[in-house]
Amino acid sequence: MASRTPRHATARVEEHLSALLAKVEMKNPGEPEFHQAVREVATTLRPALLRYPRYVDEKILERLVEPDRVISFGVNWVDDSGTVQVNRGFRVQMSSSIGPYKGGLRFHPSVYAGVLKFLGFEQTLKNSLTTLPMGGAKGGSDFDPKGRSESEIRRFCQSFMTELYPYIGEFTDIPAGDIGVGAREIGYLFGQYKRIAKRFVGAITGKGIKWGGSEIRQEATGYGAVYFAQEMLRTRDEDLEGRTCLVSGSGNVAQFTVEKLVQLGGRVVTLSDSDGFIHDPAGVDLDKLEWVKQLKNERRGRISEYAAEFPHATYKAARGGDQNPMWSVPAQCAFPCATQNEISAKDADTLVKNGVTLVVEGANMPTVPEGIDRFIASGVLYAPGKAANAGGVAVSGLEMAQDMQLSQWTREEVDARLQTIMRRIHDSVRKTAEDYGHGGNYSVGANIAGFVKVADAMLDESPI
Ligand code: NDP
Repeated sequence: MASRTPRHATARVEEHLSALLAKVEMKNPGEPEFHQAVREVATTLRPALLRYPRYVDEKILERLVEPDRVISFGVNWVDDSGTVQVNRGFRVQMSSSIGPYKGGLRFHPSVYAGVLKFLGFEQTLKNSLTTLPMGGAKGGSDFDPKGRSESEIRRFCQSFMTELYPYIGEFTDIPAGDIGVGAREIGYLFGQYKRIAKRFVGAITGKGIKWGGSEIRQEATGYGAVYFAQEMLRTRDEDLEGRTCLVSGSGNVAQFTVEKLVQLGGRVVTLSDSDGFIHDPAGVDLDKLEWVKQLKNERRGRISEYAAEFPHATYKAARGGDQNPMWSVPAQCAFPCATQNEISAKDADTLVKNGVTLVVEGANMPTVPEGIDRFIASGVLYAPGKAANAGGVAVSGLEMAQDMQLSQWTREEVDARLQTIMRRIHDSVRKTAEDYGHGGNYSVGANIAGFVKVADAMLDESPI
């Protein structure tokens, strides 16, 4: 295909991309995660920019990487000892071209504007892939929930929402959960939103099932990632039955990835948190998973306790550095479900060497760019997060629809819709990759399919 493209057109796109990347680095100094996300996407968009020169003429990508709004605010609260604590809160409203801003809130000490811009940018393309009318956003705070009491978490959430309140609403911006923001935090955030708004509206998703939430929402990201994996395997006449799987993390996404994998006959042998990982050669079954859910969601304990509870399981503390020994456990499938850049290039090499043939990203951007290249070059079925973990936001979209209708769909109904959405995302990503001469490359397919829809909306709404 490239051979039929006039050389001057190719040169123009290359010039456009290198100017764009230089500008992003210059205008967003000290934000490597954002640079990485933009670079990863931009470099795969070449075929679309060549096919539609108007995207270049009208600087669509440059407009897209500039958030509509970056809101930063102080979050002051009082801890249990009576000491005043000061955190920083953010909402990055990236794009509302195809719908109201939508994306999660992350509470983690590593949160700063650069991480949220990367997540907001990815979210914009992901939401586009779901086919639901949702724009992209992300928010959060550098608040560390670890070791905080229930009442400290509640006070923090209330103070955070008091500051965030003016910028969100059911038709403007609808936050949800992410790292450090689960069912408990969503409850406190929604409760405070309602106290201020004096209205019960679906301005947040991930709500409890008894107060405006949707069935399957908490399961959706993990289940969706596994449904996506099934679709990928189907293209090779394979399935998950009997396959050994590595799962990282032990939070929301990891828990429900494990649940669905086990239900479909997979054998999950690892779980982790930021302190280290467990290896259970006997496999994490549904009873052990229940124990993990209790540990993580109620007792707020560490994954190391798993090895003390279950015979044959071992625990290894995280060492840091550019290799995570968890990824050297022999397996056929890997589901990174913890955080960004958790699979280094060396980890990717190890996974490939050990015979992994499927990598499905439950987390956002868990694989470094060189790692992605390794997977694709080695013929691994590699699913980028923006496609594979879109089930969470998709069911958030279904939650919004139910809120608007004042109705509640059954578990079966939502699960069936989730499966349909994941199948459609898979098929459109795969077809787009083929259509642009990159058959089998889900990374190119997801980026182009997500981008083209947003780009066309931008042109329709406001051509220059
Ligand atoms: P949780 O907070 O529920 O769980 C996060 C897990 O990852 C925990 O086990 C945590 O360990 C671990 N983790 C976090 N940071 C690090 C780190 N720096 N190093 C090692 N381990 C780490 O978050 P979620 O499960 O909701 O989110 C996980 C990933 O999935 C994120 O990338 C998120 O953006 C993405 N995602 C989430 C969606 C959702 O619906 N929740 C939707 C789409 C994507 P510890 O407890 O020690 O911090």
